Amino acid sequence: MTVERNIVCTFCGCLCDDINLTIEDDRIVKVEKACGNGRGLFEGYNPDPIMPKVMGRDTTFQEAVKEASRILRSARYPLIYGLSSTSSEAQRMTVQLAELIGASIDSTSSVCHGPTGLAMQAVGEPTCTLGEIKNRADLLVFWGCNPLVTHSRHFARYSAMPKGRFIPKGRRDRKVVVVDVRRSETAKSADMYLQIKQGCDFEVLLALKALIMGRTLDAVEVGGIPAEVLQQLAVEMKSCRYGVIFFGMGLTMTNGRDLNVSGVLSLVRELNDHTRFSALPMRGHGNVTGADQVMSWLCGYPFAVNYSRGYPRYGPGEYTAVDLLCSGEADCMLVIASDPAAHFPAPAVKHMKTIPVIAIDPAESLTAAGASVYFPTAMYGIDCEGTAYRMDGVALRLKAPLKRKRPSDEEVLQALIEGVKSC
Ligand code: SF4
Repeated sequence: MTVERNIVCTFCGCLCDDINLTIEDDRIVKVEKACGNGRGLFEGYNPDPIMPKVMGRDTTFQEAVKEASRILRSARYPLIYGLSSTSSEAQRMTVQLAELIGASIDSTSSVCHGPTGLAMQAVGEPTCTLGEIKNRADLLVFWGCNPLVTHSRHFARYSAMPKGRFIPKGRRDRKVVVVDVRRSETAKSADMYLQIKQGCDFEVLLALKALIMGRTLDAVEVGGIPAEVLQQLAVEMKSCRYGVIFFGMGLTMTNGRDLNVSGVLSLVRELNDHTRFSALPMRGHGNVTGADQVMSWLCGYPFAVNYSRGYPRYGPGEYTAVDLLCSGEADCMLVIASDPAAHFPAPAVKHMKTIPVIAIDPAESLTAAGASVYFPTAMYGIDCEGTAYRMDGVALRLKAPLKRKRPSDEEVLQALIEGVKSC
């Protein structure tokens, strides 16, 4: 029995890097420090080898590569999707494959924080690290997110609770504000809760910006929030020493989308005339931030990129996976570490059933179960090393506490690149 210390949990964008795993007979038998989601990731993991499948039948790795390469080479409009739960090394290789076959390449960003990317391109990114927040932030605003449920250790490890260099009493030195349409678990533990009407975030953000700029409001309420409460929040924001707005899909996937996020970012820009303020998206998947980073370095754009003309073109709403499937344009799909068959809208899933799908995934997901070719791979951060980016853009090296018995995502992608070249 061995104990592997300081392992990174890749379940969510927090990438907690203090997890201890007890390992016996190449199985994880005890998980310490992880939250329920993280425990589920490690405890249920079985690293045993599994045969690749072609049309549901077990086959050899070489045969599966041959069939997948043939599908990719013969497609007129291939689509590559996923990327948020694999290493940045595999993400880099995926972009290489997309360029080689002239594919559209998109990550799960397009169905979560894609609008954040658009807003950052328009306004800029007033960012910081979680370490700065832990050591300095005395005002935390959670807008349209519920970290106590979705990122369970965020409060305890990075934001509300920890004692920091300039925050010696931890939670008692911080004010926590929640803006949300319902009284979530996070809202219940906040010092101030503002219940906003569904779809009114943009108006409220504009009103707050006006108050920060010293204007007065004619309205008695904006988006369901009384003007005096907004005034009180504006005063708290201007008078804190270091504030942060964490925002989630309550902003990015409701009316306004990228305009809501632009509202947050320009509000933060305004606040920096008075004090120190930052904004951070609450990223969901473990390495979705890495997908944005790697795509941006290599293509110039974070998601929704098309290589059909041999150079990268950016088209959210056009080259995004859901749109390419719903319009019926994609004629084959390569899915890497994602399960669109379980999460995409019905018209997109309906089209997926009519085209060949190649799945690369450690788990036999719904997408993998219905795929023409399925490659079972090792899990990054458990039996495969690699790099992942935390939600604040800090890159972390992932160890492999278990011995690897399956190919890594990188190895499959490398084999596909070679297979496509030789087709
Ligand atoms: Fe894993 Fe996220 Fe829980 Fe941390 S908060 S242990 S990264 S699931």
